[in-house]
Amino acid sequence: MKGNSAGIVRPYDHGIFSWFGYRFPLEERMRMIKEAGYAASSVWLGRTERMVREGERNLIPSIVRSLGLDFEYIHASYANCNKIWSDSPDEREIIRSDYLGDIAYCAEHRIPTLVVHISKGLNPPGVKESGLEVIADLVRASEDSGVVLAVENTRQPGHVDYILENIKSDHLAFCYDSSHDFLVGQPAGALLERWATRLRITHLSDNDGLSDKHWLPGLGNGPWERVARAFPVESFSGYLTLEVLPSSREFAGGMEFLLLGRERLRWFEALARKLRGAQAAPQSTEAAGHGAHDAMPDEEGHRSR
Ligand SMILES: [Zn+2]
Repeated sequence: MKGNSAGIVRPYDHGIFSWFGYRFPLEERMRMIKEAGYAASSVWLGRTERMVREGERNLIPSIVRSLGLDFEYIHASYANCNKIWSDSPDEREIIRSDYLGDIAYCAEHRIPTLVVHISKGLNPPGVKESGLEVIADLVRASEDSGVVLAVENTRQPGHVDYILENIKSDHLAFCYDSSHDFLVGQPAGALLERWATRLRITHLSDNDGLSDKHWLPGLGNGPWERVARAFPVESFSGYLTLEVLPSSREFAGGMEFLLLGRERLRWFEALARKLRGAQAAPQSTEAAGHGAHDAMPDEEGHRSR
């Protein structure tokens, strides 16, 4: 939580994933994100992002930072992620080298966190030790290069549990996706509560309880009170970050959608603080408020604000 020495709670800064459903060039999307008042953004490192597809990915960090946005994380492409649990060493090597390449990209550009999926679909292969060894290699590379690997819950929260239970490292963290959490048929918020101390990235969005819509928080029927009750406002010092798509064409221009997104984040934060009965924890500087980013040793010199 953020506060100052007088014990006044400082609200969370807001982030948003750079793909939010509007087909503008990345630079334009970033400009809109900045204009709407977000402090941070993050980028998909897969081929559906035009600059990645066209070999311009090394230009992305300067676009983000030149606007004064913090580059919160890279989201890895998850096309091959089920190969982590493959019995074939060759298949496991494919995903290992994919994700090692993404870690290297983060390190080269001083991006503090890489978000990865570790399973996809409703029936991924089960967990096994050979897969854990793949993740352990990725964590070692992350430790060596000052990056934090954040594993995201998708449809199989048990895979997240298995990895976080078995590998303890400051460079292995949790990325909580609320829309995915709402669809897996276990009490929403339970996973967040379980891994609250390792929470580093939030993917906040809502859905209709049927499919992974990624609507703005509160615009679907997700059990937000459960998430808010589980949300560790006392310890989490990262961004409240949206990973969202518009629910309809009512948000014609994009900007209105982005501004409503910020309003929805403030709504969620107020709900979480109310339900947690949060009191301010004394904290002296703004930089301390971003403790979740501490793994980048020379990060401060490269922060854009
Ligand atoms: Zn994801």
